[in-house]
Amino acid sequence: MSDLTSLLQKYSKAGPRYTSYPTAPYFHEGFREAEWREEIAASQDPARGISLYFHIPFCDTLCYYCGCNMVATGHYERVAPYLDCLEREMDSVAALVDKTRRVRQLHWGGGTPTYLKPDDIRRLMTAIRQRFTIAPDAEMGCEADPRELTREHLVALRESGFNRLSFGVQDLDPKVQAAVNRVQPTAMIAEVYGWARELGFSSINMDLIVGLPYQNVASFAQTLDTVLDWSPDRFAIFGYAHVPWMKKHQKLIAESDLPDFATRLELQNLIHDRLSAAGYVNIGLDHYAKPSDEMVIAQRAKTLYRNFQGYTTHKDCDIYAFGSSSISQTKTTYVQNEKTLRVYEEAVMQNGLCVERGLRLTRDDEIRRDMITRVMCDLELDGAAFSADWGIDCWDYFADALPDLQAQAADGLLTLTGGVLRVTDLGRRFLRNIAMCFDHYLRQDIAPPGAVIRPRYSKTA
Ligand code: SF4
Repeated sequence: MSDLTSLLQKYSKAGPRYTSYPTAPYFHEGFREAEWREEIAASQDPARGISLYFHIPFCDTLCYYCGCNMVATGHYERVAPYLDCLEREMDSVAALVDKTRRVRQLHWGGGTPTYLKPDDIRRLMTAIRQRFTIAPDAEMGCEADPRELTREHLVALRESGFNRLSFGVQDLDPKVQAAVNRVQPTAMIAEVYGWARELGFSSINMDLIVGLPYQNVASFAQTLDTVLDWSPDRFAIFGYAHVPWMKKHQKLIAESDLPDFATRLELQNLIHDRLSAAGYVNIGLDHYAKPSDEMVIAQRAKTLYRNFQGYTTHKDCDIYAFGSSSISQTKTTYVQNEKTLRVYEEAVMQNGLCVERGLRLTRDDEIRRDMITRVMCDLELDGAAFSADWGIDCWDYFADALPDLQAQAADGLLTLTGGVLRVTDLGRRFLRNIAMCFDHYLRQDIAPPGAVIRPRYSKTA
């Protein structure tokens, strides 16, 4: 067994991906619509930008591995009432937002945003522009499913101002695709990718998944050969989390068809080696980008940030999120919308908002979030500067994390000298484990409010 494999084995444990801190299970029902309205109104800072997120929950078919909040439906007539809700929700939020503030980032996720027909793509974007002012150089991204995607969809997205696309590719092996009920021939993906390039989308990401049934090193190497030939700007690699007790449809995947732990590790190593050899930079946490990508540049400049949309170059933004299950964020609060579509729709049409739960950060939460964010984005942390920023003695404050950090330093994941923590190249593969050292809730095994069980996170390797 190689040193790397034994380390991956040693550090494979359930842990958050830290798109927020505290993590979503700690949001509670004491923070809902009234508190959210107050917070939006009270937090209007002209210096902060706006990031808008829209959740489109519909999908044509169900991918058996899916972990998203989605509804598989052939009833397209469900779209119009949902768009009505998004407009109503936007009215409520926009009425409280300072009109001089600009939208610097906009993202449509799902579900499948490209489930919307081209006219509905235009309808939604027109509605957004009527309520918010989008900066001319805003980063505007949309997740796209190559199946059922037409050139007209992409034209509608480009005409609406989108400049980024993210394709769900996952794996090109037909046997794997059949086993997860997501059949998308390579030629189909090549065609939609060609349209996207031709239409001038400036950045294209491809999602791949490790841990799907029947995956093996030989066939996944072929997938990598093909996607590297296409030369997308970024890759996001996700580890499949098989949690059929939470996601019932995952029972449609036979556990016996899943690759074993050793194969998953081989696949991860293969991806890392092949993408690195092709010149992609490992941003951290299974995200890779070309050296010229603004995410890589932002990481070097220490302006990279992490939020519900993953890594982002837009640090000082409040996120206003719309649609079922979506999560909004200001400097010191998080709120999540109701996840059940019908409940969300009824409440929004009645009240204008439908917050299920939220959270106001304590000062300790803010300090720890900053620490986790800096480690995961900058890959280094100067204790002296951090102490000055927060008026604390950094390593005294995090004294309980030091034994674990020192153990990780001994394993070569980081260095901790002169009060400066630096993540090593090897440590980029273990960012979640390093961040977990600073997580108060995890360390103290604190149950979320009202929870009878502890939150379950995916495995870090
Ligand atoms: S397209 Fe995406 S959201 Fe829809 S079922 Fe498949 S994985 Fe889930």
